[in-house]
Amino acid sequence: FLELVSPNFESRQYGYDIQILNSVIQSNTDEAKIDTSNRFHFQSKLYPFTISIFLTFDSYQHQYVSNLGETALIALVLSLLYVIIRYQTLARLSIEYSLLTAIKEEQIELYLQPIVDIHSRKLVGSEALVRWNHPVQGNMSPEQFIPLAEKLGAIDRITKYMFKEISRFLKRNPDYLNESYISINISRYQIVQPEFVQFLERYKRRYPNYVGRILLELTENVELCSEQLDIALVNLKAIQELGFAIAIDDFGTGYSGLNLVRMIKFDVVKIDQVFIKSLHTESNIKPVLKSMIQLADDLDMKIIAEGVETEAQIEQLEMLGVKYIQGFYYAKPIKPDELATFHRMTNEALTLSEPIPRWKS
Ligand code: C2E
Ligand code: CA
Ligand code: CA
Repeated sequence: FLELVSPNFESRQYGYDIQILNSVIQSNTDEAKIDTSNRFHFQSKLYPFTISIFLTFDSYQHQYVSNLGETALIALVLSLLYVIIRYQTLARLSIEYSLLTAIKEEQIELYLQPIVDIHSRKLVGSEALVRWNHPVQGNMSPEQFIPLAEKLGAIDRITKYMFKEISRFLKRNPDYLNESYISINISRYQIVQPEFVQFLERYKRRYPNYVGRILLELTENVELCSEQLDIALVNLKAIQELGFAIAIDDFGTGYSGLNLVRMIKFDVVKIDQVFIKSLHTESNIKPVLKSMIQLADDLDMKIIAEGVETEAQIEQLEMLGVKYIQGFYYAKPIKPDELATFHRMTNEALTLSEPIPRWKS
């Protein structure tokens, strides 16, 4: 046994305890290092001997060291798996990932906000505004996710989705087209892309009747370098030639507005809500508004005042000569079917002596 078996045990750091008659052969093992839970005990029924083999902490150590290569490989694979799973879980929870999924799976929604003629009290148009209900964070403001979509290169898909939904809405409500238009917000990234003009050309071929009723809103805060500005101007002209109207949005808040209106004739100017909000509080806003309105008149552009919330603001705007109003006073952005009802309410049943309808939703 000693010659054949015990060298093998010793090399693996196993402990042994063999008793033959009264003789005892033992490994040279430190008692404290014995793992008592792993002991193999054998007692012969025929012969007077017992064999006890046990693992020691040194044998574990030996086992690990001799299998170090395999152990390291298994540890590496497990770590990699952990990192991949963790990364995927985090990515799934990130806003970027959910936004891309929402756009791809069309979980975003079209809302429309009415624009009303201050005198005839009729609906003259509506602005298409995108909505996204994030699974965890709830309704997210487009002010947050539109810049993100631009950064991720997904704004194109949002615009195309809006065009698609608007076309569906117009198909369902052909009467709307007789009197009212729809405006869509265009990102500054799209206005410098030739693909966007090509998309509008295709749209025109498919829906020739809708084109004259669509207004494209471009925000004044487009930070374009001179090269991009040249491209934007060429594209805007091409878009107008196709028959779409163009509007300058958030007028008065940026530094490029005056430059833009000098270089291209916009059909509509949308006065930003900051001017309307401070109509009552700041005395020097009125002269600024007056000159904006004068400018728009001189350049033959229609004016829409945004963010109108009170009767007092309407009175002031009416005195200043503003004709078209958009704001919570009439209605918040609403679902397309609700807008169709709003349209019927205002444009069919209304006589001029009735009060301006307001949409509570
Ligand atoms: P915007 O184009 O200036 O749109 C008007 C914003 O003012 C909307 O905010 C609307 O809900 C809000 N608003 C309208 N009336 C009132 C009012 O009386 N009071 C107040 N406090 N707010 C009013 P919203 O829907 O949160 O959109 C924010 C911005 O996100 C938009 O500003 C537009 O720049 C951008 N956006 C929205 N939808 C789209 C889209 O489909 N494409 C692109 N590229 N941008 C979009
Ligand atoms: Ca707008
Ligand atoms: Ca605006």
